Amino acid sequence: MSMFSDIPVDVGIIYEGERIRRNDMYVELGGPTVKEKFELAKVRAANEIEDGKIVIIGPDIKDMKEGNSYPLGILVEAAGATLDEGLEGVIERRIHGYMNYIEGFMHLNQRYDIWIRLSKKSFQKGLNSFLYIGNVLHRLFKSELPIIEKLQITFITDPAKIKELYPQALQAYEARDAKARGLKDEEVDKFYGCILCQSFAPTHVCVITPQRYSNCGAISWFDGRASASIDPKGPVFAIEKGELLDPVKGEYSGVNETVKKKTLGEVSKVWLYTAFGHPHTSCGCFEAVAFYIPEVDGFGLVHRGFKGVTVNGLPFSTLADSTAGGRQVDGFHGLSIEYMRSKKFLEADGGWRRVVWLPKEIKERVKDFIPKDVVDKIATEEDAQNIDSLKAFLKAKGHPVVAKWTEEATKAEAAVPAEVNKEEDTLVPVATAATLPLTAGGFKIILKDAKIYAKKVIIRPIKDEKKS
Ligand code: SF4
Repeated sequence: MSMFSDIPVDVGIIYEGERIRRNDMYVELGGPTVKEKFELAKVRAANEIEDGKIVIIGPDIKDMKEGNSYPLGILVEAAGATLDEGLEGVIERRIHGYMNYIEGFMHLNQRYDIWIRLSKKSFQKGLNSFLYIGNVLHRLFKSELPIIEKLQITFITDPAKIKELYPQALQAYEARDAKARGLKDEEVDKFYGCILCQSFAPTHVCVITPQRYSNCGAISWFDGRASASIDPKGPVFAIEKGELLDPVKGEYSGVNETVKKKTLGEVSKVWLYTAFGHPHTSCGCFEAVAFYIPEVDGFGLVHRGFKGVTVNGLPFSTLADSTAGGRQVDGFHGLSIEYMRSKKFLEADGGWRRVVWLPKEIKERVKDFIPKDVVDKIATEEDAQNIDSLKAFLKAKGHPVVAKWTEEATKAEAAVPAEVNKEEDTLVPVATAATLPLTAGGFKIILKDAKIYAKKVIIRPIKDEKKS
């Protein structure tokens, strides 16, 4: 008999990666319209919790209205003779994997960004209570991580209780992140890899180093080490660094070999500290995106929670679509907020000296890690809402990229013969990519180091094309 025979829907690895569209959802928990939500794992003393106990504070799923979004807090409390606080991040990240095993239940993102949907179909089959979800989690945690001896799970939907616990959750994340700061990539022999997100992005591998936090911001190098040691066959594994091939871009022979193996040859080279050439791949649950703005030769940054449009007129969701899927996209880079605090943050591209715009909320959070001489020269949505106002702001403040504009313009004028210059004047690449796959007539054509020029770009919705 299956260990889930009393659960009204199927549970298994085949449901990982299942997407639930808005039209198919019964309810949404957390997500972009809910401000305060979280998931948190805490290690407790054995006498503080009751094994298998599932607590629900606030309305249960069956009390919710179809089509609505609700706040949610998930607290997973674990006890075990050899468990310690260092494993909280590892336990917490497993919530994502295990919830996605449930048929018709989709869990995205992490920590304070969780976004869950339950499908109408699964609700109709009887999945109408957090008790079922809790029981699945309890059984999976206990069978996959035997180091956990007792596990208690609390689901909180009462907004007042969430409000009370939310700051505590943020504090716990910050304490965890702070512990991992200070160690350098050069000081360790091993990095860690994570393929938990391959269910959504099959060619994605996170390479977690002391100075390059995982894309989701939920697994530090210490968490990676702890996870690989308690569950060596799990999604997190050790990577032997091998030879340092490029200290500036961050290329290691061991990273290249491992990523090639884990992506079945799709990705064979990774440069850890740049968004160009062979950047680290981006899955879908990165906390933020770095996007290149060619007009100013600088980077914009935007996080998942930013509601407006960025300085180039695109919202986070559009930029995330251009970045995600386990690809290496030149100039689009999924990353965590903690990585912005690292000395290696886009180091090969100029780091913070190349960043020109980011939402105020994120600037406040990482302010202490931005070099003092540039912090006031980086615009937020309050300083610049479009490229023209951004240019004016950067010029007025003397941002380091401005010096490059004149340098580049002089170099270009000197290098290009007058007759060519006239033509090229009007041509700016509309797309550049290290690898650009195209499908035509049944063939897959891959352009390497592509730069595409076009006199005109026509963007037409696919449905219009079908009609015509
Ligand atoms: S973003 Fe990276 S580290 Fe985080 S769960 Fe996904 S693969 Fe693992």
